[in-house]
Amino acid sequence: MEKVIVITGASRGIGAATALLAAREGYRICINYQTDEQAAHRVLEQVRELGAEAITVRADVSIEDEVTHLFNRVDAELGRVTALVNNAGTVGQKSRVEEMSEFRLLKIMKTNVVGPILCAKHAVQRMSTLHGGQGGSIVNVSSVAARLGSPSEYVDYAASKGALDTFTVGLSREVAGEGIRVNAVRPGYIHTDFHALSGDPDRVSKLESTIPMGRGGQASEVAEAIIWLLSDKASYSTGTFVDLGGGR
Ligand code: NAP
Repeated sequence: MEKVIVITGASRGIGAATALLAAREGYRICINYQTDEQAAHRVLEQVRELGAEAITVRADVSIEDEVTHLFNRVDAELGRVTALVNNAGTVGQKSRVEEMSEFRLLKIMKTNVVGPILCAKHAVQRMSTLHGGQGGSIVNVSSVAARLGSPSEYVDYAASKGALDTFTVGLSREVAGEGIRVNAVRPGYIHTDFHALSGDPDRVSKLESTIPMGRGGQASEVAEAIIWLLSDKASYSTGTFVDLGGGR
């Protein structure tokens, strides 16, 4: 079976690192992004240099029409999806709960919870043996924040990842008999541009002394776990979590 992977938010960070590793593993790759077309094209060039067939698709994962368009393009240009990485995510400025606006809360929940559920919906329609599919594997990119709660930083973000964890367990059991495995990774402090969104681009370096392993993680270290969970090497794992928090 051809391996066709959709990676949301693959223009940079953990998603881009996963695309590079997927190229080495022989996947055909859909690089999704929301705004940064140039960055997505740089990842496209890199995966093509590694010999992978790939496309970029702009889509906001929290809007179903755009998710429908994304999966239709994958059908037409790469083939039936066999792997989905729900990686796109966002966070607001460091704040206490009493300062959070409704706009911010809705954006976090739409991007980090509704988006992955919508993408999983369209993947399951294609993967499930119930619908004539040949199975597949889904990995949700959660966070150790789901366990720790991120007090005085971004409790809303942590809550969104808690919802993603519950979704991982529920969906895994719903489709376990239909050839689909659903798992999640929970990264800790990883060196990416993500932290600029919360107002401190150097956050990981500043917090390294609080991490038991004494350093932040690299996007490629998260990608390794994602690609393993997607692979047949993890064939009996579903509804599980791999924490990549350096001991946090
Ligand atoms: P990043 O460098 O900020 O990349 C985020 C990616 O998501 C970008 O490609 C961005 O696209 C895309 N994106 C954001 N909103 C989107 C939307 N609505 N629709 C489609 N794409 C969207 O972040 P990262 O650090 O790699 O994080 C990736 C995932 O890991 C997130 O789910 C995050 O919560 C999780 N995580 C990160 C850390 C960490 O320390 N970095 C820790 C735990 C969990 P554009 O560039 O086009 O806007």
